[in-house]
Amino acid sequence: MKKRKFKFAILATLALAAILSGCADSQQDKSKEVNVYSARHYEVDKQAYIDFENETGIKVNIIEGKAPELLERMKREGADTQADLFITADMGNIYQAIEGGMTQELSSKTIKENIPENLRGENNEWVALTKRARVIVYDKEKVNPNSLSTYAALTDSEWKGELLVRGSDSIYNQSLLASFIADEGEEYAKMWAQGIVNNLARDPKGNDRDQVKAIAAGEGLVTLVNSYYLGQMLNSQDPEEVKAAEKVGIFFPEPTHVNISGVVLSKYSSNKDNAILLAEYLTSVKVQKAYTEENYEYPANKNVEPSELLLSWGELKPQELVLSEIGRNNKKAVEIFARAAWK
Ligand code: FE
Repeated sequence: MKKRKFKFAILATLALAAILSGCADSQQDKSKEVNVYSARHYEVDKQAYIDFENETGIKVNIIEGKAPELLERMKREGADTQADLFITADMGNIYQAIEGGMTQELSSKTIKENIPENLRGENNEWVALTKRARVIVYDKEKVNPNSLSTYAALTDSEWKGELLVRGSDSIYNQSLLASFIADEGEEYAKMWAQGIVNNLARDPKGNDRDQVKAIAAGEGLVTLVNSYYLGQMLNSQDPEEVKAAEKVGIFFPEPTHVNISGVVLSKYSSNKDNAILLAEYLTSVKVQKAYTEENYEYPANKNVEPSELLLSWGELKPQELVLSEIGRNNKKAVEIFARAAWK
């Protein structure tokens, strides 16, 4: 009897030791975390990470920065990078990560089910999270929307001295021009850039919101803006932003330039399974609904409808092009802007 009790005590002690060491292990090991380098700084994103953590127990560590800074950092860190996922706006930025050899295939059945083929890289090296439309915004009091049609029509002489644009250093403008190079060729893109510069009301300056404010202040009649900024301004805490946004109309040229924000899997990800789980989560109906209802972007998930506000603005008829072309033509676009003296 005594012997048996002793044996049992040893076994129990061993079992307890195993459990304790197991606990210590899981506290130290990195299997329950994922590191995200993100150039998207929105409340909806932060909420999605919190919800993911609560649902999975996987800690999401966020390093925020501007896209060029994060790209630079990943390049510098090379194989030592902490990044599991890189999340950013604009195909131009995503393409740089891919061109720089910083990514690997983000392969997932769930993602393939959620996101249509044209919103993923040819080899799933990127996945779109949202779509974003670069639209024409105009002074509602002075411009009849019937006088608007295409991006090209903004180069007509009737708009001389009436256009406002942001600078050519904006990746949004670079990608717009890059899409024209892909769709219509370089000559067309050159003529378009020159035509816009010839019609400017002032030197390019400020961000997208500043263009809307300047239209509202009467500095010009027409500008180019990503549509979610109007949603954000209309729902802003700042009454001045609401007032400015209410003074302008939104017009969808046909076809409309549609860019994306998206995610790539770091080539050197050390938490690959967790990274894929998080990327899948960001394409889920729940998060995609938040992107459109709270951040006024178009969902990339094919089963999620754009928000009521977006639908009220009209139907989106996107350019038909391979989105990677936008990244591929970025350098040419920058050169054309420089030659057109688009500041
Ligand atoms: Fe933006």
